[in-house]
Amino acid sequence: MTRRATKIVATLGPASSDPALLEQMIRAGVNVVRLNFSHGTAQDHIDRAHLVREVAQRVGREVAIMADLQGPKIRVGKFADGKVVLVPGAKFVLDAARTELGDVDAVGLDYKALPREVKAGDVLLLNDGLIVITVDAVIGEAVHTTVKLGGELSNNKGINKQGGGLTAPALTAKDMDDIRTAMSFQADYVAVSFPKNAIDMEMARQLCNVAAAEYGHRPGMIAKIERAEAIPRLEEILLASDGIMVARGDLAVEVGNAAVPGLQKRMIKLAREHDKVVITATQMMESMITNPVPTRAEVSDVANAVLDGTDAVMLSAETASGRYPLETVIEMASICHAAEGHEDFKLEADFTGKTFKRIDQSIAMGALFTAHHLGAKAIVAMTDSGSTALWMSRHLIQVPIYALTSKVATQRRMALYRNVRPLFIDTSTDRDTALSEAENHLKTRGIVQSGDVYAITCGEPMGAPGGTNMLKICRVS
Ligand code: PGA
Ligand code: MN
Repeated sequence: MTRRATKIVATLGPASSDPALLEQMIRAGVNVVRLNFSHGTAQDHIDRAHLVREVAQRVGREVAIMADLQGPKIRVGKFADGKVVLVPGAKFVLDAARTELGDVDAVGLDYKALPREVKAGDVLLLNDGLIVITVDAVIGEAVHTTVKLGGELSNNKGINKQGGGLTAPALTAKDMDDIRTAMSFQADYVAVSFPKNAIDMEMARQLCNVAAAEYGHRPGMIAKIERAEAIPRLEEILLASDGIMVARGDLAVEVGNAAVPGLQKRMIKLAREHDKVVITATQMMESMITNPVPTRAEVSDVANAVLDGTDAVMLSAETASGRYPLETVIEMASICHAAEGHEDFKLEADFTGKTFKRIDQSIAMGALFTAHHLGAKAIVAMTDSGSTALWMSRHLIQVPIYALTSKVATQRRMALYRNVRPLFIDTSTDRDTALSEAENHLKTRGIVQSGDVYAITCGEPMGAPGGTNMLKICRVS
């Protein structure tokens, strides 16, 4: 199999819950499985999580599970006929007090606070921006609007305000239940929808840690950047999270389509500079929901995210409900691989002006620098928490990083890190045994041969998190 540094996140759904198909998808390159809590029951997610663990074991590769919380999707209510068609110029009322079902003149609101958070002149976008309405006046609980861009509006479609500014808290009562469900199967990552600031992320992390305590687990926290307000607060959100998702679907609605590509580049760069992971998401291979091949534009989009330095590219409906889930993964893996051949390696430039205060981080950077200059075949990080592998993987380098750990949870978490191949190693033995075991790993996988050089980092004593203090350069005999 060809080596690919960029990871693939695939959303599971009705189109990808067959064990044999899921096995093929994982073999074809899925590294992280996303369970979308906006759809399905708690039991659906529990069943899928067990399926993923089972299939991953059969394949012999650890796959991370990311539980994606629904968050405060701000929505209209339901219609008597399930949907209406809004025409440009028509008047339409969003009424928080309305109890009867909606019609072509007015609809109720799931989000009761809306009348207090909009004013005349505001632009609201419905159904992911397909319908645009402007606010004429707010009278009591009713938001009176005029339709600018018409279309079909069906039950419970989302509402966004252009420029942001809706205050709904990032965690709903449903999210809190879903966190408990996700922790019952020890989801490796939890993605938080619509966080506005660091506090939203800190709260989510605390709730997860409390719910996961009885399993001795701590999930990684991913902030979905999809609100206009989150943009000026990117840095504080990054500091409070383990990673971010460039959630282009909702983000594009709030900041405008044209602003998204630039923001994507900035987010990826900033995340890596802060030693955080980053996932690029939404509509990457959208046309493959119904077609067996992607468009040229989609191929370019995936390749450009890879060249921007994203850790992972994500599939949503393509794998959850599309017609070609396996073909999409195969196609995406090959695009990533081809794009990686055109990376620009600037390790020296990365290091200028940087200082490292921690011993373990300095060792990680030392290994990276040395391996790069020696043309080493591999870097091996013996790691307990995964942080040495994370630091190493924040820099683009041609040398593959093999992260050896005795902790399955660490192995799974590292499945998301760019250019990191997580492997299991028993570290209950002494250091020399573990080191020769590591070399055997590389040899049996055909990664190194006699005469090849590789770099290895470890800690003495072994098995202490944050204890990496040794770098050894080895030539295979
Ligand atoms: P969603 O998030 O698919 O859960 O809405 C991703 C996005 O908005 O891009
Ligand atoms: Mn979203």
